[in-house]
Amino acid sequence: MGIRTESTLTQECRKGVMEFLLINHPLDCPICDQAGECRLQEFSVEHGKGESRFREDKVKKPKNVDIGPRVRLDDERCIMCSRCIRFTAEIADEPVLGFTERGSHTTLAVHPGKRLEHNYSLNTVDICPVGALTSTDFRFQQRVWFLTETNSICTGCGRGCNMEIGARGDTIYRQTPRDNNDVNSTWMCDSGRLDFHFVNSEFRLTDPMVKTGGKHEIASWKTALNTIATALAGKKGEEIAIIASARMTNEELFFVKHLAAQLGTTNVDVIPRTGGSDNYLRADDLNPNTNGAKLILGIEPGSKLADIQEKMSRGLLRGVLALGENLLKVGFAQRDLEKVPFIATLHLLANASAELSHVVLPGTAYAEKRGSMINVTGRLQRLNKAVKAPGNARDTWEILRDLIVALGGSNGIHTVEDVFALLAAEIPALEGLTFSKIGDLGTQVLETAEKIPLLEREKERKAKGIIVG
Ligand code: SF4
Ligand code: SF4
Repeated sequence: MGIRTESTLTQECRKGVMEFLLINHPLDCPICDQAGECRLQEFSVEHGKGESRFREDKVKKPKNVDIGPRVRLDDERCIMCSRCIRFTAEIADEPVLGFTERGSHTTLAVHPGKRLEHNYSLNTVDICPVGALTSTDFRFQQRVWFLTETNSICTGCGRGCNMEIGARGDTIYRQTPRDNNDVNSTWMCDSGRLDFHFVNSEFRLTDPMVKTGGKHEIASWKTALNTIATALAGKKGEEIAIIASARMTNEELFFVKHLAAQLGTTNVDVIPRTGGSDNYLRADDLNPNTNGAKLILGIEPGSKLADIQEKMSRGLLRGVLALGENLLKVGFAQRDLEKVPFIATLHLLANASAELSHVVLPGTAYAEKRGSMINVTGRLQRLNKAVKAPGNARDTWEILRDLIVALGGSNGIHTVEDVFALLAAEIPALEGLTFSKIGDLGTQVLETAEKIPLLEREKERKAKGIIVG
């Protein structure tokens, strides 16, 4: 059989089909959020006539329909492909969408009394080939062709869904899932996807601060780090505690480990967070790098917290370093913290613990740094830098490296690749790896019993022939 795809007749037929497809389409590309990544727009440019001969009235359908808290529907743009209906029925198990009416009047609608409100609703926006379903958060915020997309991972829970961060300048506008069949297939949850507004927040800390006369004053990095080094240098190891975070990257945790060794303390822990599991993608573990913390610090997260709190309440701690954790929000009492003569904290946003600290250091958010994390299934994955940190905030691993230097330790580490090389030399599970070898899709470094419910169901459906391809 011979098939001609470019003959004059084929081209004419294709133009005819396009003309029919566009008869009732509003052609409002200039104000449509999908413009720039719309399949209909692309086909129209490639195969359309470039003009319309349709002189009658287009069918009018509902516009800007509020079908859920995060998704809006413009029915006139819908091409009735039914992808969103299948997603809600087959993947999210909440079949709330369906078609009503017939022919040109076919209309996508939510079932009476229902809303598209489950935590995976924004995936329908990704799979809608046109601008019929748009994100309430992203709608009219930015033209997609101005966005720079950076491959990274979500740090909202231990799953580490692969995603692209869409930014213009140093402002993040959206996060969308990136395919990885070993982690998140093509999906991500709404809460992880929308958890970026704090990065753009006006309450970000931008400069190191040192408390003088009971008041925080902006200081240079050198002054701030020297203040911490001087305050901690004269204290015994057991009088110092480091509360780190399982939200830190492996590279940052590497320096936590070496800082603890330099200070001679074993009072080191991270704050556990659990209770996130939803039987789809979200992991029970709400920290993105618990496995990294276990592997690098050699601790069971949370196992030393009670002991540290007790020492603090008895006034035995004389220096506390809190890295990326708001101590007052994770179980530490203000009256106990007030018994510690010196507290230094590293934060992204102004908070009450920072207020209590003698030195406050501004760190970088997940989208402002490079580094690696190990997710709940034992996969080592990379974060990439999408935007610059505000003001004088610096990469956390660089801050910790410079603090070790201020305490008299060694230097000579200049890039995240250098740090990873040292990690790979120290941690057997990372042996033979380099930062670049991790790749865009990550690499398995640990075996865990953790399963991904959504992917397990996808596999079952494929095996039964319900999903083809
Ligand atoms: S995915 Fe978009 S175009 Fe397809 S049926 Fe749903 S709303 Fe319409
Ligand atoms: S499941 Fe977890 S990692 Fe994935 S998008 Fe949601 S919060 Fe982020």
